[in-house]
Formats: sequence, structure tokens, C-alpha cells
Amino acid sequence: MERTVLLSKDYKTGDALGKVLSLQPNQVIEMVKDSGLRGRGGAGFPTGLKWDLAAKASGEKKYVICNADEGEPGTFKDRVLLLEHTEKLVEGMAIAAYAIGSDEGIIYLRSEYRWMLKELQQRIESSMNVVKQKGFTFRLEVRQNAGAYICGEETALIESLEGKRGEPRNRPPYPVECGYLNCPTIVNNVETFCYIPKIVNQGPDEFKRYGTEKSKGTKLFSISGDCNKPGVYELDLGSPVSDVLKLVDAERTKAVQIGGASGVTIGEKDFDKPIAFEGFPPGGSIIIFNKSRNMRHVLKNLMEFFVDESCGQCTPCREGNLRILEAIDRLDSGEKLDEEYMETLVELANVMKVASKCGLGQTSANPFLYIYENFREDL
Ligand code: SF4
Repeated sequence: MERTVLLSKDYKTGDALGKVLSLQPNQVIEMVKDSGLRGRGGAGFPTGLKWDLAAKASGEKKYVICNADEGEPGTFKDRVLLLEHTEKLVEGMAIAAYAIGSDEGIIYLRSEYRWMLKELQQRIESSMNVVKQKGFTFRLEVRQNAGAYICGEETALIESLEGKRGEPRNRPPYPVECGYLNCPTIVNNVETFCYIPKIVNQGPDEFKRYGTEKSKGTKLFSISGDCNKPGVYELDLGSPVSDVLKLVDAERTKAVQIGGASGVTIGEKDFDKPIAFEGFPPGGSIIIFNKSRNMRHVLKNLMEFFVDESCGQCTPCREGNLRILEAIDRLDSGEKLDEEYMETLVELANVMKVASKCGLGQTSANPFLYIYENFREDL
């Protein structure tokens, strides 16, 4: 069902921070844990647990980083939050800083969002005045990505912030122990931080009223493609795909891609299933394809993207994406590939999932696997 929990304008900047400053940091973390909030960037790691680990890590300096590198094809909801709900983001980051014992935050902004920088900075400045009035010492700056998709991965993002080539690090250690400048660091998505003042103001129980057992709350989705009402929608986690299609007035739908380019691509038989961490993973984007689309063309477009964006550091991702793209090119040129060849590609895709170093290579074969499974006739 559609809601306006996060998108509601019924909010006064500074109330939540004022409340938090009268609590002990561990009480704030318990509140976030109790809400069941999971990271809204895609991976769904429990936010309270992440904060707890960073709070307990030793280090004189700690950092709060907002991942605003919204580069997933079809995703545009963070753009709305950055410009229309800036005060929630700033307050959420300040609360996180208080909870983990930090006094410094960085918003890592997508390179293509350079156009919004001036307005964003003005809005941050005015929200920071409220933070200062509450008596909390917190420094916040915006830094820009240079245009690489992989820098949305938290360790590549940290490398990039340190002025190095944006490539994922080996883990462990995790950023909560050894992150930016080797200091304990939390990296959360824009939407995750924006929920925090709401949880503090209204209490964890109110947040938990929506969603499912394992996926609490609501979530924003950027919905686009073949529908009459594309846009940013806030929905209960656990909403079935069919509800989404009705909401955006989609007709003759053939396929729905949920969770971005590396998410799941499903057909009609699965439209009654829920979008939740225990169902179809709720990334930020939902793209709808109607019956006029050939899914081979969709797949080709996505694999070209992944070939371009793979950082090349590890072989399964660097070579695997290319081999899948090559096969699609051969199909496109009219060649017939026998079942044995296609099954070998499936095997390769499964190797990529387990042997790639970071999330990009672990998920970039998903479009191939889902389209091969659900729309084989188009291949
Ligand atoms: Fe780079 Fe891909 Fe390996 Fe990630 S999986 S480290 S993007 S080559």
C-alpha cells in the first residue's frame, strides 16, 4: 500500500536531535535496533547493528558517511530526498554521529548530480544551523564522485574519498572497524539516514507498524518504464508486485525488474509475490517492460553497462560479464547457440556469483540468469 511515512512534510527539523541529545548514545542505538530498520541501499544490513559495531570499535576519530552515489540504472529516489528532504538527511546523520561518537560527516554525491550541488549546499547549511542551535558539534561536507558506478560499493567509496582509485577493498576488516582514513566508519544510504528522525520522533513501534516480520517499515521506489504514472512512490515493504503495477497504471506488462540492473527480472507468474528482504529484494528501482519489449535487447543493454562499470580487479567479473555480452551479440547477429553453450554460460554466471570480490560481480549476472529462466524465448 502507498504511504507517506518518510515523504510526509509533517516534520520539524531539530526535534529528533534535541530528544536524542538527552539520551545516552547506546539508548539511541537500541532505539534504531528496535525499529528493525535495515539499510535502504540494497544490501539490507541492520542499521542499528552497524552503528553498534562502530560505536564499540576503538578509535579517537570516527566518521559518518552518506552514500549519495545514486547510480543504479532506473533509480532516482535519493535525488528527491537530497533536494526536498535535506533536513531529514542532515539530522539523521547528526544523530548517527552522536550515537557512534563521531563529530564529522561526509555526503558522497554522485558525479552526475553536480547540477544540484549549489542548492544542496544551501539547504545543508540551513539544516546545520539547527544542529548548531541544539548545541551539537558536527562538521558536514559534500564530496563528489568522479563518475564510477563501483564507487557506490562502500569500500570503493572510501578508497575514492581517500583520493585513490575507486576499487573495493578486501574484507575484513569492515569499515565499522577500519574505514575512512583507517578509522571506524559507518556508511549508510541517503534514505536510511532520512528515516532516523522519524523513528526518533514517532518511536520504533510506529515504524514497525508497516512492513513484514523481516522487512519493517516503508520504502521508496523509483518506478519507471512502460507505465502511465512513473515516479517516486513510498510503499509498505512486502507489497506484491501486482499492487505496484496497479498504482502506476501499467498495462500489458511482460516483465518487471526489481532492485536495479542487478536485481531480479520476473514475469507474470510471479506478480503476486512480495517485494521485501525475504521476497524480491527491495533495491531502489523498479522498471516495467510491456509486451512490446524483447528481453534480449534489455539484457544486452544491461550487460554493456556492467562490462563498462566492472573495475577489472578480479577475473570472474572482468571476464564473466564480457563472455555473457559476447553470447548476446552472437544471438543478436542471428547465430543459434545450442543448449550446452547456454548451460555453460549459466555455470559461468553462478561462478561469478560466488567468486567475484564485490557486490557488482556477485550480482551482475542476475539479468542473464533471470531472463534466461523467465524469457528464454527472447534469447
Ligand atoms: Fe571490481 Fe567486479 Fe571484482 Fe567488484 S567484482 S572488485 S567490480 S572486478
